[in-house]
Amino acid sequence: MEIRDIDIEIKNTTILTMDKECRIFLNSSLIIDKGYIIEIGESAAIGYKYKAAKVIDAKGKMVMPGLINAHTHAAMTIFRGIADDIPLKEWLFEKVFPLEDRFVKAKTVEIGTKLAIAEMILSGTTTFCDMYFFEDEIAKIVTETGIRAVLSEGVIDFPTPNSKTPDEGLKYTEMLINKWAGNPLVTIGVAVHSPYSCSPELLKKTKQLADKYNVPFNIHLAETKWEIETIQKTFGLTPTQLLNNLGLLSNNVIAAHSVHLTEQDIKLLADNKVGVAHNPQCNMKLASGVAPVCEFLDANIKVGLGTDGVASNNNLNMFDEMNTMALLHKISKNNSTMMDAKMVVKIATNGSAQVLGLQNEIGSIEIGKKADVIIIDLDKPHLIPLYNHYSHIIFSMNGSEVDTVIINGKLVMENRKLLTMDIEKIKMDAIELGTIIGKSL
Ligand SMILES: [Zn+2]
Repeated sequence: MEIRDIDIEIKNTTILTMDKECRIFLNSSLIIDKGYIIEIGESAAIGYKYKAAKVIDAKGKMVMPGLINAHTHAAMTIFRGIADDIPLKEWLFEKVFPLEDRFVKAKTVEIGTKLAIAEMILSGTTTFCDMYFFEDEIAKIVTETGIRAVLSEGVIDFPTPNSKTPDEGLKYTEMLINKWAGNPLVTIGVAVHSPYSCSPELLKKTKQLADKYNVPFNIHLAETKWEIETIQKTFGLTPTQLLNNLGLLSNNVIAAHSVHLTEQDIKLLADNKVGVAHNPQCNMKLASGVAPVCEFLDANIKVGLGTDGVASNNNLNMFDEMNTMALLHKISKNNSTMMDAKMVVKIATNGSAQVLGLQNEIGSIEIGKKADVIIIDLDKPHLIPLYNHYSHIIFSMNGSEVDTVIINGKLVMENRKLLTMDIEKIKMDAIELGTIIGKSL
């Protein structure tokens, strides 16, 4: 028998596949070559067929798909903790927008995004969906650091730090779509801020661009009661109805938040196959409300999980977010059987992948899918004993157990050491920038 040379074998471990049947393999190997998962099976039964350039003995650990953050603004790490304990409208218009106007530049976005990617990899996130400014710079950092991302330049009805007009922003987005086409890590999407900050004309124009290239379309939808009242006053509609009337609802839409929806709104999302990026911590922190996620799932709406930006969370930790998601829906339904642990893990992996349109590439450990996997060290006091892996992921882990991270078949963290980033330099740059921003407040 011929022995095949491959890139990585992770052996002697437990593999949570998160495939359709949620199969769990014990004492098994994951075989990775040229970025893809090529075989999964008992180490004793398949290991002899391969000669790996890198062998990882993951005994006492477990392997699962990398977590997928379906909605964030990564570079906002530079504003971590700058505006807490205030409502969204004040937070956005009096704090965030003026701060962005003063401090968001290509260089500061670079510092903030690097810090964000370090934080994400350290806590097991392998893909993030970003809506911000200077996404070309962000794409370069993404490819250098080896994380996977869906990147969308934010467009809004006033000048942004990167474009004087929305049209300029759309031109820039189109340039990005062409420039990064075919990149194995970067998918360019289109982003329009929200129904309350963009005119119907702008909403339509951005959606046309997303449809022209069949790329993801990001929008914040029905986030607060204030938004509902504002849109009702101007158009006599709910924000969801407004988007529907403008022909904006379809299967490439990623509707972040989606907190305040009527039964008819939920039906509109379901009928048009819109995906929702749920942001429980941000919605709680800004007291925006509880998104009707159980109803979304009942209606077969695609649901993913995201942290939103750090200025309203205040971290990018998906373990933390999954824990909050499970607890929030139990208490809000007054029903402890809601949002069980396995369901939440599914949402943070293949749910998010579906929302981002990447379900054929990532979100589960299956032969033929991209090798985006994390190895978790189970040798921790807070993970003993172990009866149920999903239970530990949702209710006991905090992200610090993530030991090794592989994205697109490449090691980006091993034994908690970041391999593609100079973390000391990244921290130093961010501290320096934080000092300048702090002094100006
Ligand atoms: Zn957001």
